Amino acid sequence: MTPHRVMFWQIGNVWIFYVLAGLATGLFLAGVVAYVSVWKKSSRSLEIPFSKEALKRMILDTFLGRRVLQGDVAAGLMHLLIFWGFLSLFIGTSLLAIHHYIFTFLEGTAHLIFSFGLEVGGLMLLAGVIWALIRRYLQRVPRLERRLEDAVVPLWLLLAALSGFILEGLRLAVERSPWGGWSFVGWCLSGFFSPAGAEGLYPYLWWGHALLCLGFIAVIPYTKLFHILGAPAGIYLQGASKPIVLGMEEGAGEFDLGDAIFFDGCMRCGRCVEACPSVGAGEPFAPRDFVQALRQALWQEHFPLGDIRFMSPKEESKVDENFWYCTTCRACLEICPVYGAAFEVVTKKRVLAVEEGTMVPKLLNQTLEKLFKYNNPWESSKRKRGAWADGLELIDLTKRGAEADLCYFVGCTTSFDDTAQMIARSFSKVLQTAGVNFGILGKKEPCCGDIARRVGELGLFEEQRKGSEELFDKYGITEVATSSPHCFHTFKNEYPEAPFRARHYTQVLRELMAEGKLRFKKGVEATVTYHDPCYLGRHNRIFDEPREIIRAIPGINLIEMTHYQADSLCCGGGGGRMWQDLQGEVKMSEVRIREAEATGAEILITACPLCLIMLEDARKAAGLKEPFRVMDLNELVLQAL
Ligand code: SF4
Ligand code: SF4
Repeated sequence: MTPHRVMFWQIGNVWIFYVLAGLATGLFLAGVVAYVSVWKKSSRSLEIPFSKEALKRMILDTFLGRRVLQGDVAAGLMHLLIFWGFLSLFIGTSLLAIHHYIFTFLEGTAHLIFSFGLEVGGLMLLAGVIWALIRRYLQRVPRLERRLEDAVVPLWLLLAALSGFILEGLRLAVERSPWGGWSFVGWCLSGFFSPAGAEGLYPYLWWGHALLCLGFIAVIPYTKLFHILGAPAGIYLQGASKPIVLGMEEGAGEFDLGDAIFFDGCMRCGRCVEACPSVGAGEPFAPRDFVQALRQALWQEHFPLGDIRFMSPKEESKVDENFWYCTTCRACLEICPVYGAAFEVVTKKRVLAVEEGTMVPKLLNQTLEKLFKYNNPWESSKRKRGAWADGLELIDLTKRGAEADLCYFVGCTTSFDDTAQMIARSFSKVLQTAGVNFGILGKKEPCCGDIARRVGELGLFEEQRKGSEELFDKYGITEVATSSPHCFHTFKNEYPEAPFRARHYTQVLRELMAEGKLRFKKGVEATVTYHDPCYLGRHNRIFDEPREIIRAIPGINLIEMTHYQADSLCCGGGGGRMWQDLQGEVKMSEVRIREAEATGAEILITACPLCLIMLEDARKAAGLKEPFRVMDLNELVLQAL
């Protein structure tokens, strides 16, 4: 006899199955329609741009689990087992339906291969689900929550997979077909049942299994399982949407379609919580909770029944003012499987908070007033802006007839802060030694707008951006080197019409080295470690240049901390945090300085004025004494020249 499968074996009243299947599909579709209606109402535009790159990324991430594997191979493999197990069973069931209703093709060898494939798929699903339960409830992986739906969803899958195998065992115990061994799991189980008992039990278990599977499809939109659809859509949109230059567009503080889908695609995996320095410092903010709170707030606002996820944690429905704790360090985006940029959403919330004048911390309000009044957050008089350069005989590019190949944009913090001024002096001396024809803007140097932009004061940012562009234009400046990664980032990424090219000083130094203009004549005998500033490293992928400069200095031994490059820890100074008084259990900068000290290095090098100030303060607070020091890269370079 040709190997084949008898459909609906021992099952009567098949029409009930069709009614249930219709019901499950209806519930599923109703849920999906609810999502689309919320997205429509909460997004400022429903435009879905086409991008080949984003499509490729979505396919690779969805089918190969690239993002889930990154940084947590065990979680990635577990997810792949569930994903491919579930998908192969879904495809298998669809093929069976085609075989039964449209054309017969699952016979003979095709049937044998099909049966074998289903067994493998089922086993993968089973293994993945058991692994997921072990990770969450036995290993108790800290970043994973243990809420009701976190148990219900895998247990549901487990029961569906197990009942499928037992059903098969019951059927094979009666059929004893010669090709039964191809369904090897069911074949093994069939040995446990007597043919008479199996035949009697089979219809009951079949209906139970059918209810489990149809019910599973029905609840997808009503649980975190929605990430099956939401995650790929979110991954595509995060890659395809044009980055918004806030301050340039109307409604910049509103959510777009990518944000709304990101909130619904978030499966509460907690990777962002693990990476977030604010959580690490014991502060009352966590990106996952923030995203979930926004999700629920959108549903409550835009759907008559509120949140349709009946097992969602309800206590998260309030978006509080704790988003001011975010340093916008980008660590969450680096590891989020759906490329969710929680910090960009944070900025949008800040834009609204500033617009409405609500939830803005008092100290920050004062800083914004100073920014508006003095064009710097330090309140110092403009006249003191170039005071650090006294005695260095630098060209002031704003003076009549002054010309130079490079404009050194010092930045507010480096200009006014006593600790950070050393960066400006060292960098200027390094440039002089390398024979670079450069100048500064002196008293006329403006604020680049980083602080205003990060805290959501878009009106002020826009003013500062326009003012800066006009100034650079007026003095014919086309090449700019910045002390601060924050100024560099703002110029490079948020000045769409900039009449100049901006680089960070590490890029300039690296280029001077390549041109042979920067030669290290003296050695510096020291073991050092390097702290990647978030806006240089994670935001702009400048990881190698500073390390190449450090390694080129004779005598230097560079060692890495536990967290480095894209995985670096934030010092806590970015995102407007420098001008707020937000406390956690411990300071982020202290966490970082302890990590640096633990390497055994004598010097902690960094390349950002904010990092320098934060880490130096942390060093003092932690009582870490000489020879352990915090140093800007320019100071080290100067020592070696
Ligand atoms: S935001 Fe991303 S990383 Fe954080 S819990 Fe959601 S899916 Fe996971
Ligand atoms: S940007 Fe940094 S501080 Fe802000 S939520 Fe993400 S990880 Fe946390």
